[in-house]
Amino acid sequence: MSTAAAATKMSPETAALFEQYVIPNYKRFPLSLVRGEGSWVWDDQGRKYLDFFPGWGCNLLGHCPPAVVRAVQEQVAELIHVPNTWHMEAQGRWAKLLSERSFGGQAFFCNSGTEANEAAIKLARLHAPKERYKIITFEGGFHGRTYAAVSATAQPKYHEGIEPLVPGFVYAPFGDLDAVRAKVDRETAAIMVEPIQGEGGIRIPPAGFLEGLRKIADENGLLLIFDEVQAGCGRTGKWFAYQNFGVEPDVMTLAKSLCGGVAGGAMLATKEVAASLRPGMHAATFGGNPLAARAGIATIETIEQDNLLAAAGKLGGVFRELLEPLVAELPYVREFRQLGLMIGVELTVDATPLVQACMDRGLLINVTQGNVIRLLPALTSSEAEVREGCATLVEAIRSFKP
Ligand SMILES: *Cc1c(COP(=O)(O)O)cnc(C)c1O
Repeated sequence: MSTAAAATKMSPETAALFEQYVIPNYKRFPLSLVRGEGSWVWDDQGRKYLDFFPGWGCNLLGHCPPAVVRAVQEQVAELIHVPNTWHMEAQGRWAKLLSERSFGGQAFFCNSGTEANEAAIKLARLHAPKERYKIITFEGGFHGRTYAAVSATAQPKYHEGIEPLVPGFVYAPFGDLDAVRAKVDRETAAIMVEPIQGEGGIRIPPAGFLEGLRKIADENGLLLIFDEVQAGCGRTGKWFAYQNFGVEPDVMTLAKSLCGGVAGGAMLATKEVAASLRPGMHAATFGGNPLAARAGIATIETIEQDNLLAAAGKLGGVFRELLEPLVAELPYVREFRQLGLMIGVELTVDATPLVQACMDRGLLINVTQGNVIRLLPALTSSEAEVREGCATLVEAIRSFKP
C-alpha cells in the first residue's frame, strides 16, 4: 500500500510517527482507532466499525464496558500499584472468584498470557521429580512469545531465526491420543493444551480427547495444564472452556479477556500443585495489581449480573445459523466451527484479503492460519449487531473471488 493511499485512511501525522519511531513488528492496517463503545469502534476520520474481533478477543464485554470503566476509575484515584510485598484486598477477592468458578485452586497473577504460561511451565518442572522436565504440547497450538511459551508453541513459523529454543518440549498432533501415549517417557512432567485451539484456527478437540489426556496424565503422574488464555472467562458459554468437556486440569492459564480489556493474566493451580511454588521461586512485579484486580472482579460480576454466559451460547447459535450454510453454498468455504463466541470459518483458499474487504464495509474481523476467518465477538453484542455483521461478512465472502 502506497503512503499516499494510506494517508487518505488515517491521520498522516500518526502514520509518520509510526514510520519513524515504532518498530514495525506488526502488520498494521492503515487505520487509527480512537474510541470504542460496546461492539463499535471509531477511527480518527470519524468512521464507525462493527467489531467482531474486539481487542484480539480481550474485550470480552465490548469496548469500554461501564462496570470495568467505573471500577478502574475508582481504583486509579485510590491506589494504582503496590507490589506483592504486601496484601491487597482486591487481589484476594479476585482469586476467590476465579477459584469458585473453576476447580477450587489458588491463583498466581501476572500481566499476559505468555507470562501465565511461563508460570505454568516453571510450576510443572518444580512440581515434578527432578528427572522429569518434558512437557508435551500440540501442533497448531499457541502459547505466547516469550522463550518457554514460544518453545511450547508447536508451529515452526514462530521459531524461525530465534533458535535454539528452550529444551524439553515434545510436540504431538492435536487430537491424537495414541501419539501422546507414545511420547510419554520417564522424563515427562506435564501435558499442556488449549482445550480449543484459538490462533490455530478455532479447532475444537475430537470427542474424548481431553478426557483421554486426563487419563494419560493420571496414569503417568503428569500434570494436565489447560491454556485458556483465549477460550476462558466465559467466551465459550461456560466460565472455562474445559467445563464444556467435563474434564478438569491441574493448572490453568488465563489472560486476554480476564480483565475485560485491561491487561492481566493468571495461573490457577490446585492447592496441592500450587504448594510447589514457594516464596522466591517466581514473581511478576505488576501481577495482580489493584487496577487489574478491580477490572477482573468487575468483568466476572458483569458476566453474572447480565447473564452473559447464556448470551454467549445463544449468540453463538445465531452465528451458526447465519454462517454455516455457506459451507454448502460456496465451494471455497470448507468448514464452520464454533463454541459459544469462538467462531471459525475455514476456507479452502487464502482468506486474508477478506480482512480488508470487511474493513471497507465497516466490519472488523481476523484471519488466522491464512485461511480461517476468526471471530471473537463481545458477549455483550446484541442479536441485531450479530445479524448485521454476519450479513456484511456473508456478502463479503460471497463477492470474494478466490
Ligand atoms: C494470545 C494467547 C497467548 C499469549 O497471550 P499474550 O497475552 O499475548 O502473551 C497464549 N495462549 C493462547 C491460547 C493465546 O491465545
